[in-house]
Amino acid sequence: MELQKKLEILSGAAKYDVSCSSSGSKRKNTKVGIGNGSSCGICHSWSDDGRCISLLKILLTNYCVYDCAYCVNRISNDVPRATFTPEEVAGLTINFYKRNYIEGLFLSSAIIKNPNYTMELLYQSVKILRTQHRFNGYIHIKAIPGSDLNLIELTGQLVDRMSVNIELPSSNGLKMLAPQKEKQSILKPMGFINSKILQTKEEKRIVKKTPSFVPAGQSTQLIVGATPDHDLSIIRLSEKLYQHYRLKRVYYSAYVPVTSQNPNLPAINKPPLLREHRLYQADWLLRFYGFSAQELLNESMPNFDTKVDPKANWALNNIHLFPVEINRADYETLLRVPGIGVRSAQKIIRARKVKSLDMDDLKKLGIVLKRAKFFITCKGKYNGGLDINDKLIRYALTDDVKTYDITTQWEQLSLFPMLDSMPTLNDNFMSITGEI
Ligand code: SF4
Repeated sequence: MELQKKLEILSGAAKYDVSCSSSGSKRKNTKVGIGNGSSCGICHSWSDDGRCISLLKILLTNYCVYDCAYCVNRISNDVPRATFTPEEVAGLTINFYKRNYIEGLFLSSAIIKNPNYTMELLYQSVKILRTQHRFNGYIHIKAIPGSDLNLIELTGQLVDRMSVNIELPSSNGLKMLAPQKEKQSILKPMGFINSKILQTKEEKRIVKKTPSFVPAGQSTQLIVGATPDHDLSIIRLSEKLYQHYRLKRVYYSAYVPVTSQNPNLPAINKPPLLREHRLYQADWLLRFYGFSAQELLNESMPNFDTKVDPKANWALNNIHLFPVEINRADYETLLRVPGIGVRSAQKIIRARKVKSLDMDDLKKLGIVLKRAKFFITCKGKYNGGLDINDKLIRYALTDDVKTYDITTQWEQLSLFPMLDSMPTLNDNFMSITGEI
């Protein structure tokens, strides 16, 4: 099969994996090498649905011996198949890099023959890139659950980031839709990567030249909406992954309906993108705003309100804590005000050292008051224009999002796009910047 055809098939097949992003890696070029993982700032381009586009994102193969019901690459699905050789992966990456199309590589794979065989091919691909082509750009690779930990270790020494995709948020979900997979075989490599990262950091403190191991950390992907799991169980799982496995990111991927006779799959015809968006917002709240999963949702309210964002929802459910006085509230309290993000809270803290702030001062600081005005006072004055009543404010905030349209263009960009489908930055700004 021609390389171009393979590329079409295997870049198309990779679009369902959203667990790629930049960051964290400080890999520098060498005198005789090519590429630079730090200065080229990998992955700061995003498609309009928030997915990164500046890596060459491909599967090594889409032949799969597994039959996960939600996946287009499952063995029982009749789709065109292809496999790259490790040399082809390395050659393509270098060619694309030299032409300035990409800044790095995101390499994932279906399971061809068995996990070890697949992991070996992935390892060979990055080994050729790093040693023969002396490529020092960013590489994010998938660790294959069930493969030998030695192979994962060798690969981890060559790449910047690894991810082990959990995909389905619960053991029940796995049993229903991916019975060949086991939770434990997914968590085992994740635990191993985490301990190797910690060990390498320790060793580097003593011996500076200790080889790196996955310097940009690990990430995972959860599929949203393929199983009946609630948002609460999803964000609880994310919280645990951040705490116990020190993941850099959990990515959420709305289930893209596939043609299948499996009765366990939900009968939907569009990916639940608004739900995915709310989970990304909640994820930011867990990582940067000091919220716990249990504060955001509970058993009696296990799913996010699609009409207001999770922080506003929390504030409305805790309206007795508001309004907060902008000139006195501590940083952590400011962060809990809907509409005030990390940068805004920092600006307020700095500015109020100089003077007492009123609404005009906040506007001059560039603070967006559309939502925040309902939850704050400035010099004791409330400018929300409504009684501090959760129902009234919820209605006002819901009006605010009535025009929110996330139903368009959910597909990841093709590597062969028409010009008019190139990415734009628009209404997923919040999920990227985290200013919630
Ligand atoms: S193992 Fe991965 S590629 Fe294979 S069917 Fe399952 S989800 Fe798809």
